[in-house]
Amino acid sequence: MKTAYLIKPNKIEVIEKSIPSIQDDEVLVRVKAALTCGTDLKAYLRGHPLIPMPGPFGHEFSGVIEQIGKGVNGFTKGDAVMLVHTAPCGNCSYCKRGFFNLCDTLTKDMMLGAFSEYIVVKNRVVRQNMFHKPADIDFEEAAFLEPLSCIVHGVKVLCPSKEDKILLIGTGPVGLLFLQVLKSMGVSVAVMGRNKNKLSVAEKIGADRIYYSAEEALDFTEGFGYDKVVECTGEKEIWLRAIYLVRKGGTVLLFGGLKAGTEVCYDAARIHYDEITLKGAFHYNPEDVKEAYELIKSKKLKLKELITDKFTISEISLAFEKLSRGEGIKYLIQL
Ligand SMILES: [Zn+2]
Ligand SMILES: [Zn+2]
Repeated sequence: MKTAYLIKPNKIEVIEKSIPSIQDDEVLVRVKAALTCGTDLKAYLRGHPLIPMPGPFGHEFSGVIEQIGKGVNGFTKGDAVMLVHTAPCGNCSYCKRGFFNLCDTLTKDMMLGAFSEYIVVKNRVVRQNMFHKPADIDFEEAAFLEPLSCIVHGVKVLCPSKEDKILLIGTGPVGLLFLQVLKSMGVSVAVMGRNKNKLSVAEKIGADRIYYSAEEALDFTEGFGYDKVVECTGEKEIWLRAIYLVRKGGTVLLFGGLKAGTEVCYDAARIHYDEITLKGAFHYNPEDVKEAYELIKSKKLKLKELITDKFTISEISLAFEKLSRGEGIKYLIQL
């Protein structure tokens, strides 16, 4: 089978490998659609602690069951499926307290290698985070289950109310998915970004306002400040600036992860006297995945609008070259 390996930063090779074998409690999926993501891009540009190099990469996908272990129930060969690449253990101290997204071994059994013709689905995922793809959902829409699960989790952490005015900073896939989920809940959302094309996509899929700068962005609230701000860029400078865009008593959700060891320094008065709440959000619980699945099934979201272009697996480097130049939102790798 063909599989894309990330060899080192800025170098992907498509290699030929034998089709992997499965255990009795696993499933082999023939990948039909895989999507590029911001995490993949980070790994491509500078390496990523959770994505070993050289090694397979890609984690947003959907496909068809090619082979099924004897011990697997609820699925059969030939079923079209949509899934995510991790699932919690259920036994660690975090899982026992219900913090499944913070499971101690979440990344141990993480499945990488969506940019491949076949991928083995681990038992944890088969049991908790794999679903039947409805016939009226395309494989490329089904591949959004993983990023959308992260967003569903983030929205719960943010806890928006209908009266809120929310500012999303960043027009990458995360910002644009956040926008769609918040709009599906009837919240007022402005989007701030630097890229004209991506801002026009934000406008097309439902942003109430789009802005190029923080000064302009405050207009939507008549200078009052946003009730909530979501940082979706993963840039230190934006993390620092975000707290000046919320009103007193507002919340800033720091959603775009920064490299471990990065230090951010805030004005204490802003946090204490102005009662700003800073929150982080990471990954998702099985409950979030189920909700994301229902959202995709509802067809309320314009997921295909976020796919800039399609490539074959042999052309995968082209997709990442474009992403590294800031071109495009997500690319579909068709298999
Ligand atoms: Zn992703
Ligand atoms: Zn656990």
